[in-house]
Amino acid sequence: MARYVFITGGGVSSLGKGLASAALGALLQARGFSVRLRKLDPYLNVDPGTMSPFEHGEVFVTDDGAETDLDLGHYERFTGVSARKTDSVSSGRIYSNVLEKERRGDYLGKTIQVIPHVTNEIKDFLRVGEDEVDFMLCEIGGTVGDIEGLPFFEAIRQFAQDKPRGQCIFVHLTLLPYVSASGELKTKPTQHSVKELRSIGIAPDVLLLRSERAIPEKEREKIALFCNVRKEAVIAAYDLKTIYEAPLAYHREGLDQAVLDAFGISPAPKPNLDRWVDVMDRLENAEGEVRVAIVGKYTQLEDAYKSIAEALTHGGMANRTRVRAEWINAELFEREDPSPFLEGFHAILVPGGFGERGTEGKIRAAQYAREKGIPYLGICLGMQMAVIEAARNLAQVKDAGSEEFDHEVGKKRFTPVVYHLKEWIQGNHIVERKHDDDKGGTMRLGAYTATLAAGSRVSEIYHATEIEERHRHRYEVDVRYREALEGCGLTFSGMSPDGRLPEIVEIKDHPWFIGVQFHPELKSKPFAPHPLFADFVRAALEVSRLV
Ligand code: GLN
Repeated sequence: MARYVFITGGGVSSLGKGLASAALGALLQARGFSVRLRKLDPYLNVDPGTMSPFEHGEVFVTDDGAETDLDLGHYERFTGVSARKTDSVSSGRIYSNVLEKERRGDYLGKTIQVIPHVTNEIKDFLRVGEDEVDFMLCEIGGTVGDIEGLPFFEAIRQFAQDKPRGQCIFVHLTLLPYVSASGELKTKPTQHSVKELRSIGIAPDVLLLRSERAIPEKEREKIALFCNVRKEAVIAAYDLKTIYEAPLAYHREGLDQAVLDAFGISPAPKPNLDRWVDVMDRLENAEGEVRVAIVGKYTQLEDAYKSIAEALTHGGMANRTRVRAEWINAELFEREDPSPFLEGFHAILVPGGFGERGTEGKIRAAQYAREKGIPYLGICLGMQMAVIEAARNLAQVKDAGSEEFDHEVGKKRFTPVVYHLKEWIQGNHIVERKHDDDKGGTMRLGAYTATLAAGSRVSEIYHATEIEERHRHRYEVDVRYREALEGCGLTFSGMSPDGRLPEIVEIKDHPWFIGVQFHPELKSKPFAPHPLFADFVRAALEVSRLV
């Protein structure tokens, strides 16, 4: 039966709870334990699938097709454990389940209340798969005291009470601000936050304190005393140069030891941190730098393409080089010639996206990369744009476009080289979508197999002829253009097993030009860089050596 670690935050948001949870997961693994990480989000959206990346950052997709919070990406990158649908839940999902049951009459005429019906639903979620791992790490989104979060806090309090003693612990993350006027670290916000937590019946076992300065022994003692935790369980979380330093840094401060102590696990198994030492060595001892232009839409918010940024870093680590990713708003290329902006970049990446805005700019970026022989990686919409570019400029389909942009009824502007897929095969059954289905969850989502053509560049990169990658899209490249496009040099080197859906396109006579319908970035890890990103950066490195 799993032991549970609940990770909460107080005072201010964005303190790095997700990262702390992920790093703790990695540290427990390093001591030989199996882990699973979960996120409970207080917002009312049923899942983040319908949220703009501007709202909440990237939507992370799991193998089993759930659209989840980007923190699940951190969890996977740090532990290598593939997240599942059942690892992410929001208030919206919980309420929607409860209301569905109410309508079905499952509650047998009872009055439905937050306690116990909503809290029970949350507890059921927490219990899924509890026999599979040694530790279940559950992060509660938001901060203690938020109105939406209350049912979650109440549920974890009850959950710990339901379990045998010593099976659940609480880790609380707060800010220890430094006030320069007095030259002091202030403990009051932490004290207040812990007080708030205790007022709802939760006593933290471990405190993680975000601080930009070293925490003096005196302050540590004071916090321990006022917050009723052991001194050894007051752990500093200092600012880090890179997120991948977190496991080693938290270990140095004693986080994993404090957690094991709180559970009474003694003697604690010795950790093997070689993986993280190697990761840091690759990051810190990188030579040279490649510049990659990311031509996308949501360029103002870094989190919108979180996994891509990380996968590029991993690609750099595989080559022991630094990757400088620079974000360019694709709309710029709708007004201006891309050449002066893209000159000097060693590679171009066009990421996924939705809607028409900026797409003509992305098409021009793909054209630039193709014509100038600059390594190009097109992901999802980025592949569709590369195909449209080739259709227009090589295969003479002058008005090639995507059905996604032709929404005005009776007014067709494009020949749909990319079309709206209504029906496809998943495993052994057919999935159907209607045009007017709800926006949430109507995409081809999650892991699908692709068959790679023998002798293709991608089969060499993957060292395989069959791969599985994660998808999140509604539209598909129309396979009927295959012959015409292959005749012009754009080969369809990866296909769905039934041969109907193009998964990968590539240009042979080009230093490196690949478009993929899926999201390889979601599966990249610092200790196992994704082969496509590793090879993309290698190709960029070659370009950088030429100039
Ligand atoms: N908008 C495109 C589609 O739905 C691409 C999606 C994406 O890039 N994730 O097919």
